Amino acid sequence: MDRESGRLVIRGVRALTLDAADAEHHCADIVIHGSEIVAVGPDVGRDLAGLKDATIIDGRGLLAIPGLINGHFHSPANMLKGAVANRPLELFMLYEVPPLMKGPVSPRFAYVRTMLGIAQMLRQGVTAVHDDAFFVPVPTEPEIDAVMQAYEDSGMRATVTLDQPNVVEYEKHPFLADILPPALKDRMRRSPRMADGELLTMYQQFLARWHGRDRGRLRVGLSCSAPQRVTPSYLQSLADLSRKHDLPLNMHILETRLQRVLGDVKFGKSLIQHVGDLGVLDERSLVIHAVWIDENDIDMLAKASASVAHNPVSNLKLGSGVMPFRALKDAGVNICIGNDEAIVDDGINLWTVAKIAGLIHNISDPDFDRWPAAAEILEALTTGGARAMRLEGRIGCIAPGYQADLALLDLDHLAFTPLNDLRGQLIYCEPAGAVVTTIVAGRIVFHDGRISTFDETAIKAEARSLAVELASQMRETEEAARLLEPYYRDMYSRSLNHRVGIGRWVGGGADVKPTRGRGPRERSLSTQLSSQEG
Ligand SMILES: [Zn+2]
Repeated sequence: MDRESGRLVIRGVRALTLDAADAEHHCADIVIHGSEIVAVGPDVGRDLAGLKDATIIDGRGLLAIPGLINGHFHSPANMLKGAVANRPLELFMLYEVPPLMKGPVSPRFAYVRTMLGIAQMLRQGVTAVHDDAFFVPVPTEPEIDAVMQAYEDSGMRATVTLDQPNVVEYEKHPFLADILPPALKDRMRRSPRMADGELLTMYQQFLARWHGRDRGRLRVGLSCSAPQRVTPSYLQSLADLSRKHDLPLNMHILETRLQRVLGDVKFGKSLIQHVGDLGVLDERSLVIHAVWIDENDIDMLAKASASVAHNPVSNLKLGSGVMPFRALKDAGVNICIGNDEAIVDDGINLWTVAKIAGLIHNISDPDFDRWPAAAEILEALTTGGARAMRLEGRIGCIAPGYQADLALLDLDHLAFTPLNDLRGQLIYCEPAGAVVTTIVAGRIVFHDGRISTFDETAIKAEARSLAVELASQMRETEEAARLLEPYYRDMYSRSLNHRVGIGRWVGGGADVKPTRGRGPRERSLSTQLSSQEG
């Protein structure tokens, strides 16, 4: 079918549109012209059935939903499933993005790596991804282009950023500059780092080469990684660029308790307050994690109309804590949901993340009227993600004028047998296996068990052979990480001795007790939870 002019008609499908009226059809047609939905409703495709340029999908027994939007993802970790054991973020990152790492990977490695994640997402009906791509040690044009080429070839919708810190490693953390021996500090200072101007030039070139490609399917986003990981002047330049081109600005903020301590120690304020004071918090901001935020932070996020990316599986793997979901919703903050990445959500399964998002908040509030509803999680997976990508009104609903990004699920699948509550079963029955067709911008990219835009079998085979290259790199990484780990453990312990006045680990408002002489591993959980502070 010619994608520019051809029509695709899904006939007689059950449809959960998630549009403004939350319309649900028991038997409807969805008519797609080119990349756009033009009509939705009973029998609206009847007259097109015999046309030569129309492709017809028999929708009987199927459910159509808007394609899911992976609201936060780092594709460069796609090859690292199950590679690193559970531990706190600051120690975990030593094994993932080693501060003493040398060269970039080959463009082919980056291409295959990106395709691997795409295959998993398309199979689950995930049609769009907000990819906060990081590059170790620094981004290069060939590696960036390889990532983008994968998205272009696969047909998936993607907004991709360059998540690139540009300050010395020990400046990103509290206490570390005092803890590290001079020789290691010296090595960190000598690690490759890009100046503000170099990174901005790279962004300009990235925008010129890729932004808006394939009628807007591929877009460029901005990222500072985290405010403490870049110079304030670079962060402000990114915010200028964000305003100029209306691009999302990705910032990991207050993911961990240690980052709350960092704000206190380094800036004398919360990191949300810090970015607010720098003038970079607005409706284009995507604040990632927002676990250790307080009431004032929530107020600032709401006033700025910022979005928050919720990654509950990542927060569990790294023991980060529970994000205050209901408080953010009450304040009117837009929330999207993401995998984070393959090294922390090892399965890259957005349906599992959705299920955990629908459950984890139940243990942080005894008031069950305030627990998330399945419909709220569905909203975060679709329109919430669209708004955070600055694509509100273009993706996230099945409605005329929207891009035709859809997933078709088999209602004969065990996840829906028997069918009791559609929204409840979408969120709690993990129906990834029920997805039979995925459509992006009017193009069928996955159908009947097969990805139609690239050779998935060949990509998997190549990934297995590239894993040999990866294994030797991982050994080097582990060596470097082991060298640094004692100092990071010390930093982690010291941070626990610094009170922050809020608690985000299970147990409500509990904060840890100051320790004397014993490391955090030796203290029992009950000791930590029994101490309250206000
Ligand atoms: Zn992240």
